[in-house]
Amino acid sequence: MKPPSLNAQILIGALAGIALGLGMASLGGTSTLTQSGLYTAGLIGTVFVDLLKMVLVPLVFTSIAVGVANLRTHRQMHRVWIMTLGFFVLSMATAMLLGMGAANLFTPGKGLDIALFQDSMQHFEARHMTLGEFAQSFLHGLFMNPFAALAQGNVLAIVIFALFLGIALVMGGERYRNILGLLQESLEISLRVVGWIMKLAPLGIMALLAKLVATQNAALLASLGKFVAVVLGTTLLHAVVVLPLMLYAVTRIGPLYFFREAREALITAFATSSSSATLPVTLRCVEQRLHVKPEIAGFVVPLGATVNMDGTALYEAAAALFVANLVGVDLNLMQQMIVFATAMIAAMGAPGIPSAGMVTMVMVLQSVGLPAEAIAILLPIDRLLDAFRTAVNVQGDMVGSMVVQELLQPRSRSTLPHRETPGRAR
Ligand code: ASP
Repeated sequence: MKPPSLNAQILIGALAGIALGLGMASLGGTSTLTQSGLYTAGLIGTVFVDLLKMVLVPLVFTSIAVGVANLRTHRQMHRVWIMTLGFFVLSMATAMLLGMGAANLFTPGKGLDIALFQDSMQHFEARHMTLGEFAQSFLHGLFMNPFAALAQGNVLAIVIFALFLGIALVMGGERYRNILGLLQESLEISLRVVGWIMKLAPLGIMALLAKLVATQNAALLASLGKFVAVVLGTTLLHAVVVLPLMLYAVTRIGPLYFFREAREALITAFATSSSSATLPVTLRCVEQRLHVKPEIAGFVVPLGATVNMDGTALYEAAAALFVANLVGVDLNLMQQMIVFATAMIAAMGAPGIPSAGMVTMVMVLQSVGLPAEAIAILLPIDRLLDAFRTAVNVQGDMVGSMVVQELLQPRSRSTLPHRETPGRAR
């Protein structure tokens, strides 16, 4: 019998992980079985994430430089930039409107007794950062010594340097043929290594999800139930309605086909809560399964992994309204617009790592004078919400690369292999 495909194995791994997590949760944290299960799951999950991070830096660097160099003309590069950033801003704005709309409608946090949380707030010290300071540190982090950026795994700075390198390669043309060839081969090697790591994905994902499910604090989740429902409801709405609609409107690709082919990356994002760690899988999925050309995927996806965060933007905006309700502050339209703008900047500035959104959210709260300490209330439930928003962040990057490809070369559709046609709506 033929073994199930990797895509199917990952799905089986995810379901088994959830089942194992529920099993451990029902045994309770004191059971030795749960403890050794959590230990083993932690070990396997960490190794899987570390392997992905290992290949992340060479992959991002080479894929952007090669991608940009292969765009060849300046005019094309210019259009890719505009379309990519345009798509990122539009999809994040839509996500935030959804989150803020629902938060205004259902007013989560109203009527909750803030005194209940006083203790955790007292023991939490938020790192205060004004918008100016944030902008300064963000800009400062963009341009770095490339070797330092590579060594520190600073994805955004690597993206920027690789962009410069790619443009220089385009301008130098034939002259830099050897360097381009070297980068191209390095990219191929990195992708080959990703292929090996993916063999471990079903097990890694099973371990990560088992731990995630087993360590949820159900009582806390229930006490913040309305807020959790608003965030999860709107995040899912964005994932299953808004993004697929955007994709369909431009490319005529149907959601079933998309979700089937994007599954590997979406499940990995959910399990790791890190767009950056998922990046090798996202790139592979977008190029090999969704047939986006490497020069477009290599540019849009790594950039998106650090700046395009629909789920994070939605979360930050909704959470600010939740905190306002909790402390009894009514935010007027002007203040909500400030929340909208700062949440977008904060999401763009958040690195693609677990709980990064919680850190940059301090800035959103401060922009309208809300107490940053209120984050302490949300931290214990963040692991679960982070899983969902990271999956949507990654989905946005994948949809973005497909939309940009279509807008750039509408005829590229006809180059898709035949077997894909049934899943496509047209
Ligand atoms: N974990 C998210 C990501 O990697 C960022 C966040 O905390 O919202 O995309």
